[in-house]
Amino acid sequence: MTDRYSRQTLFNPIGKQGQENINAKHVMIIGCGALGSANAEVLVRAGVGKLTIIDRDYVELSNLQRQQLYTEQDVEEELPKAIAAKNRLTQLNSHVEIDAYVMDAVAESIIPLLTNVDLIMDATDNFDIRFIINDLAHKYDIPWIFGSCVGSTGMSYTVLPGQTPCLSCLLSTMPLSGATCDSVGIITPTIQMVVAHQTTEALKLLVEDDQALRSKLVTFDLWNNMYQTINVERTKKHDCPTCGENPSYAYLTYDAQTKTEVLCGRDTVQIRANREFELDELAANLNRIGTVKQNPFLLSLHYQSYRIVFFQDGRTFVHGTNSIEKAKSIYYQLVG
Ligand SMILES: [Zn+2]
Repeated sequence: MTDRYSRQTLFNPIGKQGQENINAKHVMIIGCGALGSANAEVLVRAGVGKLTIIDRDYVELSNLQRQQLYTEQDVEEELPKAIAAKNRLTQLNSHVEIDAYVMDAVAESIIPLLTNVDLIMDATDNFDIRFIINDLAHKYDIPWIFGSCVGSTGMSYTVLPGQTPCLSCLLSTMPLSGATCDSVGIITPTIQMVVAHQTTEALKLLVEDDQALRSKLVTFDLWNNMYQTINVERTKKHDCPTCGENPSYAYLTYDAQTKTEVLCGRDTVQIRANREFELDELAANLNRIGTVKQNPFLLSLHYQSYRIVFFQDGRTFVHGTNSIEKAKSIYYQLVG
């Protein structure tokens, strides 16, 4: 262990004590696509004590351009991102304890995992999940770091429950376009820039140098050479449903009821069942319909013009439609 972190401990604001703090801390990363991969790699190389990774997806070819933890082999094996990430991260730093969960980031499944979590990193791709994170962070008093990016534009902000305005308070201040990576694309430097902001703030929190935190919302457009930080102190609302005087944490109850969901821009519907799939049994049934590909976490097959992926945790992706009705009918045809 002596030399591994020498360049980091030489950096004065971290030092030996800071490194000990980093080694003792537990970070949860929600989402393990482009932002999650890059955040995880930085924190694992920096020597964070424990990392919990949550992701619902599996690795596909179009991920490799920017999701830095994954390989062609992971695509071939259709490995869930959380599992492929854990494999790679363990090679990078075997001293870090890594818990990987292949599941939807819904409140009821995240709450049991929050014990002793010091910091939550947002690496998701939508505001529904971010508002759940925002509520969870305030209810359980855990700092979280928002990050988002599309095209060549990105944003980041550090939320400290009980101190800063929260994501709900900020929303009217944010330059939101409604564009997604699936509609207008993204270049990798955009991700790296957001991650540079997120992980620097994370290191400050982990070494407990709160004075150094940025406190402002940062936004940038790398292609068009724009960078700005926005003072948001005054956006804090006393009646905010998350960080106000009488919080209702509305997203923690609302979410639990969502059972089907169109995955933004992906021509895919997710269906979530209240049971786990017995994959071997399912494969035996579905083999009569088409060629089934299977690994310990999921199985997939082509059916009519659709591609269907069953996850062991009870979720199903129906690729090739945005219609919940159509996806359900296919689903019931296959699993009854
Ligand atoms: Zn608020």
